[in-house]
Amino acid sequence: MATASLATPKTGSRDDGIAVRLLAWYDNHHRDLPWRVPPADLARGVRPDPYHVWLSEVMLQQTTVEAVKPYFRDFLAKWPDVKALAAASNDGVMRAWAGLGYYSRARNLKACADLVATLPGGFPDSEEGLRALPGIGAYTAAAITAIAFGRPAAVVDGNVERVTARLFDIRTPLPDAKPEIKARVAELVPASRPGDFAQATMDLGATICTPKRPRCMLCPLRPDCRAILSGDPELLPLKAPKADRPKRSGIAYVAVRRDGAVLMRTRAEKGLLGGMTEVPTTGWSEGRGGTGGDGKPPFAAGWRKAGAISHVFTHFELDLEVRRADVGEISTPAGHRWVAAADIAGEALPTVMKKAIEAAIPGATKKPKRP
Ligand code: SF4
Repeated sequence: MATASLATPKTGSRDDGIAVRLLAWYDNHHRDLPWRVPPADLARGVRPDPYHVWLSEVMLQQTTVEAVKPYFRDFLAKWPDVKALAAASNDGVMRAWAGLGYYSRARNLKACADLVATLPGGFPDSEEGLRALPGIGAYTAAAITAIAFGRPAAVVDGNVERVTARLFDIRTPLPDAKPEIKARVAELVPASRPGDFAQATMDLGATICTPKRPRCMLCPLRPDCRAILSGDPELLPLKAPKADRPKRSGIAYVAVRRDGAVLMRTRAEKGLLGGMTEVPTTGWSEGRGGTGGDGKPPFAAGWRKAGAISHVFTHFELDLEVRRADVGEISTPAGHRWVAAADIAGEALPTVMKKAIEAAIPGATKKPKRP
């Protein structure tokens, strides 16, 4: 929906024109997102809810907007405010988070909610105060400060990095370019509407100044853009070559009882995928073709190969051979439990475990469709 420009920002930036042009574009072309207060509502005095901003920003770390939308709605329906989230069980939060990945975020989310629920004023309104909370780093603190509290802060995510590197034709490769990019953004942030400015830059990066084939003809910052003058903006930002991720491998064991229940266990609270549910696996050894640990299944049975899956973690790639055994009544191995077929979808299963179970029992981890 196109609207007239809502407000000419009072800017404290050294290049007012960029902020003015970007905000005018945002007024007409912003993305409608479930956690966002659109500029027309903001102009009418609607204030963003810090809980919504915080929840969405934590979910959006390393995750796409489309993937986050249903999780955000689900969390709000279950826990409409930070006190409700603080009152939730750890297990309930992990279950609701399952599938979003990077599970340390969920543990920090809960720890942060527990702490904020005890603070008389709720979320702190400064970057410094926010950074003292669990799971809130420099980016998230800046985003909450600007978006939820309307205070100037340099908010730099991947989209903003790209737009800024192109706008100023920054040729230093990432990550070394980060300080220069942040300083450039800090210069541009307007004194009024800093939250909209941050979201406008993100939206421009997501919809116009895209990684491939940026749509420069539609860009409100085209008159300001130095990368356009110097050649091919698509080449920016430059990135230092990444080291190859190491490979690990192992075996996942999917034991299926006659009634359809599957043998599972809960991972240790600390460490990778802490507190999440898994089927028993060997250790994950370095290199390809390893079995890790002692390589043995949780009990002797007619294990047969059911498939193989791969999963990419931040610091390594994992290949799992998946073996399945169909068993009768057996004693439950220590530290394990049987999960009924109807309850598998509700378990706090990380994506790698969903893949493993699906390889052995197709459809087992899908939630039944509502009629
Ligand atoms: S003119 Fe093109 S490269 Fe420059 S900021 Fe706009 S979309 Fe990005």
